[in-house]
Amino acid sequence: MEKRAVMPVEKILLDLVAIPTVSAQSNEPLIAYAQTFFAPNVWALRRYPYRDSTGTLKVNLVARTRRPPRTRPALALVCHTDTVPYEASWREAVKPVLRGGRVYGRGSCDVKGFLACILSTVSALDAAPLTAPLEVALTAEEEIGCVGARRLAAAKAVRAPRLIVGEPTGLTPVYAGKGYGLAEIVVRGREAHSAFPTAGRSAIFDAARVLASIERAAKRLQRPRHAAFDPPHATINVGLIRGGAAKNIIPGECRLTVEWRPVPGEPPDRALRLIEDELNRLRCRVPALEAEIQPLRLDPPFESAKHTELRDLLRRLSGHPPSTVSFGTEAAHVRPSDGEAVVFGPGDMTTAHRTGEHVPVAQLRACVRHLWAALAHFCLR
Ligand SMILES: [Zn+2]
Repeated sequence: MEKRAVMPVEKILLDLVAIPTVSAQSNEPLIAYAQTFFAPNVWALRRYPYRDSTGTLKVNLVARTRRPPRTRPALALVCHTDTVPYEASWREAVKPVLRGGRVYGRGSCDVKGFLACILSTVSALDAAPLTAPLEVALTAEEEIGCVGARRLAAAKAVRAPRLIVGEPTGLTPVYAGKGYGLAEIVVRGREAHSAFPTAGRSAIFDAARVLASIERAAKRLQRPRHAAFDPPHATINVGLIRGGAAKNIIPGECRLTVEWRPVPGEPPDRALRLIEDELNRLRCRVPALEAEIQPLRLDPPFESAKHTELRDLLRRLSGHPPSTVSFGTEAAHVRPSDGEAVVFGPGDMTTAHRTGEHVPVAQLRACVRHLWAALAHFCLR
């Protein structure tokens, strides 16, 4: 396949970072910029626009090569377009710089670096020799809960059986990830003057009982084990606790925010069921206790265990053994039921989501080479 002259990938990345796309903002300007890389004679584009809860326009974009017609795409490249917010004092956040072989700026690593690699690849693509179409899906609002990816999944907009989902993995193919669950527990008591405790009921004392129940549920969650993860089982965290009105008032309410990360093979709501089960036992022992659990998020884990062709290919190309991650990705939502998703991309996740975020240009270039090789492997045979 002949590659036409294209913009250097780091130049594309500098442009992408200079278009701010914090999740709350519209990503439409960035989608409009990305669209200019898809030659109309090679690519068919479809926009999936929607308004978020504040009325802001968000756009998912799906692009598919026009050739060969009436054929299922063999490979899809999936990438989110939004970023986490940045500190106002970080001048390079949306005025990116290339320094010492790295591009610095918000999103350079998570995950506009991979997006630049996609755009470099698609702009040089000639559709004539393709034996199966290539698909590209660009999504909105990943950082606030994979909102765009969920919408694309609901619309069945991505059809390829193999997906490379961009996230900074240091070019390590990631074939499995933990899921994510979130819930709020409200414990209700009865306020009273603290000098007369029996006139009320302390929601904070009851919350302590609830916390002990959650710890018991966490213990039960240590089975089943999944050796590919560290730690090798689902985890629970109570990250927030708020309760009470004043030091001399028996607290009338206490709220606990609980999250959990299920391993592949267990349902995303298993921790929720175990906590409910423990709460029911607690209510039997302490009938006056009032506690309600409200689930807020249930993202499934993902694992491409049966099919390994893409994982094996990316392993050979990158030289990195396949791995797992303990955070959620879009792969859990857009993954095809009959295929394989691998999370992959340049940059190190530990430099993402903080001031000074950056990506090495050498990894960007290597990623472009790997995308070409994957494209040749799946769409040219
Ligand atoms: Zn990301």
